[in-house]
Amino acid sequence: MATMDGDLVRQDASVLAQAMVEGEVSSEEITRAHLDRIASVDDRVHAFLHVLSDDAISSAREVDRRRAAGERLGPLAGVPLALKDVLTMTGVPTTCGSRVLEGWRPPYDSTVVERLRSADIVILGKTNMDEFAMGSSTEHSAYGPTHNPWDLERIPGGSGGGSAAALAAFEAPLAIGTDTGGSIRQPAAVTGTVGVKPTYGGVSRYGLVALASSLDQPGPCARTVMDTALLHAVIAGHDPRDSTSIRAEVPDVVGAARAADVRGMRIGLVRELGGEGYQAGVRQRFEESVAILTDLGAEVVEVSCPNFEYALAAYYLILPSEASSNLARFDGMRYGLREGDDGSRSVEEVMALTREAGFGAEVKRRIMIGTYALSSGYYDAYYGSAQKVRTLITRDFTAAFEDVDVLVSPTAPTTAFKIGDKVDDPLAMYLNDIATIPVNLAGNAAMSLPIGLAPEDGLPVGLQIMAPPMADDRLYRVGGALEAALVDRWGHQLIEEAPQL
Ligand code: GLN
Repeated sequence: MATMDGDLVRQDASVLAQAMVEGEVSSEEITRAHLDRIASVDDRVHAFLHVLSDDAISSAREVDRRRAAGERLGPLAGVPLALKDVLTMTGVPTTCGSRVLEGWRPPYDSTVVERLRSADIVILGKTNMDEFAMGSSTEHSAYGPTHNPWDLERIPGGSGGGSAAALAAFEAPLAIGTDTGGSIRQPAAVTGTVGVKPTYGGVSRYGLVALASSLDQPGPCARTVMDTALLHAVIAGHDPRDSTSIRAEVPDVVGAARAADVRGMRIGLVRELGGEGYQAGVRQRFEESVAILTDLGAEVVEVSCPNFEYALAAYYLILPSEASSNLARFDGMRYGLREGDDGSRSVEEVMALTREAGFGAEVKRRIMIGTYALSSGYYDAYYGSAQKVRTLITRDFTAAFEDVDVLVSPTAPTTAFKIGDKVDDPLAMYLNDIATIPVNLAGNAAMSLPIGLAPEDGLPVGLQIMAPPMADDRLYRVGGALEAALVDRWGHQLIEEAPQL
């Protein structure tokens, strides 16, 4: 349609879907506009590892055909999406940002992809990520870093920096991420976008290449709370192929986003998150948002979660332990890369050469830490203790949620840092996850949403909302209310002030 032309890439997914259903624009036009945008900006952003131009156009045409035939379509039908390269899609390269998977084309769809397809969402391509989702900056991708569209010299967060950057650069209105310790929420925070880690077991992990199976969770990403809710509803729900999938009704996330009302809710400020070590502008925007929530009728109280202090240490033992076991399957025999197989070497030598060549430094570091933490003699001291801490953190949440409906904190301690700043300092990199990790350890649901730009650097700041297991709808109720109030205050600042690429 004429009024939308040229501006299609800046529209919300829900607006595009509606315009498509009403015949104002075709899915093919929407999809082409996004492919053109990718062609014009992605050499600078590098959000995508693979763009599926032909497949995307043919899926879009199929949606258009079905619409023309009068078929009923879902609320996001015909809208394009960027998929993190850690989820399988039949016949499409899935590298997880690693050389070790180069050339592997999975023979099956992940459940997430299956559900996207049945909702008629158009998959544009696979997005860049830290290798096997280990990292907070996307600099650990074997295929080069993704650049933050707000400042191309800065990181877009990680591990799902590609998905978040694709949204912020208007290359896609919807994206899928995965969150093991913050990989959906921290990239959302530093790119001014919305991301949700659903309750553990809320979205199927079938076809998600495992990092740490007890923590991993796929989730929805978009530029608005409502678009995120619509996507959440598409991908969530019980899946018999994932033994940890929850057999229960998906909370009404779309209804909650629409209600967007915090009156009478109790909101807890976590004393242990958001103080010292957090950038001044991050704290300022966070405090303003808390004041807005109070104005909107929520009751805000301070809550203490004393064991959160140990979350980072516990996570960086549990994650490497599980990862060292999960990544054992990349041995050069079954998937992707095989090194040194010239007939002169034993199987063990080929495996060792493949792993040596195929894994990057961060992955090797974590495999070694994990193997050490699980070895007999050290198991109780490291892995065992970390699991006990995990229980204490879960108890902190349970106690807090007896008093409040949701908890809030800044999502990340700082705005986007410069590419290169932390890549050689693993501890500095790990500290980015300080506020996001407790949720993964306990299996709760959490959202990051943009709350403005930090005064000192003009870069986006994110606020995190945390809810009890299977109360994902509360994230959208609170997030929707806060987003509407912020738009009233600042207009669509995050869209209007986004840098022109
Ligand atoms: N930054 C965290 C890590 O490096 C988060 C990873 C994730 O959520 N996939 O482990």
